[in-house]
Amino acid sequence: MTDSLSRAATPVGLWLAFRGRELLLGEDGALPFGAALQALGGLPRGVQFLGDLDGQPCYGAELAHDALPPPGSGFHDFKRLYGRLPPATAALANRALELVEWDRTHRFCGVCGAPTAQPDARKVRICSNPECGHEHYPRVSPVVIVAVERGEEILLGRSPHFPPGFYSVLAGFVDAGETAEEAVHREVFEEVALRVRELRYFASQPWPFPHSLMLGYQAEYAGGELVCAADEIEDAAFFHVDRLPANLPGRFTIAHWLMRDFCRRHGRELASA
Ligand SMILES: [Zn+2]
Repeated sequence: MTDSLSRAATPVGLWLAFRGRELLLGEDGALPFGAALQALGGLPRGVQFLGDLDGQPCYGAELAHDALPPPGSGFHDFKRLYGRLPPATAALANRALELVEWDRTHRFCGVCGAPTAQPDARKVRICSNPECGHEHYPRVSPVVIVAVERGEEILLGRSPHFPPGFYSVLAGFVDAGETAEEAVHREVFEEVALRVRELRYFASQPWPFPHSLMLGYQAEYAGGELVCAADEIEDAAFFHVDRLPANLPGRFTIAHWLMRDFCRRHGRELASA
């Protein structure tokens, strides 16, 4: 066991401890120190050293699904915390949640079925079967998210599982063997039967639910009649910059940044959700 993991055996440092997708925070919204976790009885599982924050070592970990918060602390839905945590803490929490999920889902080798182990602080789980020895690294799944624009209009759609009245730009997973740009063309055509051109890379955002990386693009409408894919898109339309839906993605999402950029280029400000 390396220094970082043995340090985790004693409850020091700051902890990004998740119960499912809920993050444990103190009453003041601060990360708990290791001592607070002792009240939970025993160390959490899947402990991962994340690095230092404000001079304190930080660890990610998974708590039991029925864990109760220690006195003076509580569990918070991590998605709802977006934008409310300091950026450095949020980045560590993103990483912690993805690593906890990777640890939980890679305890057995996908090649031969033998147990795996993480021999040190490196983020790799190695198959214990000497005949195999396969190395399992954290997985990141790229997703393209695209603002399709047509003059002063932007294409927004809603899938059936969105809250009532909620609209966003289109998004979808990159397929195996596909470039991100090919994925943009394919997703837009599959979801709304439109063609796009002049793709421009915009920005990216990790989305740890459970391990996506959102790749943002802007594109121009190039042709086609809008037809929504059954089961995937309940409604989609081009919205004028002055008549956007009221219920849009929160300001800490890349979807919001894409819409805000569209509005700014047309001399408007996007209201912050
Ligand atoms: Zn194996």
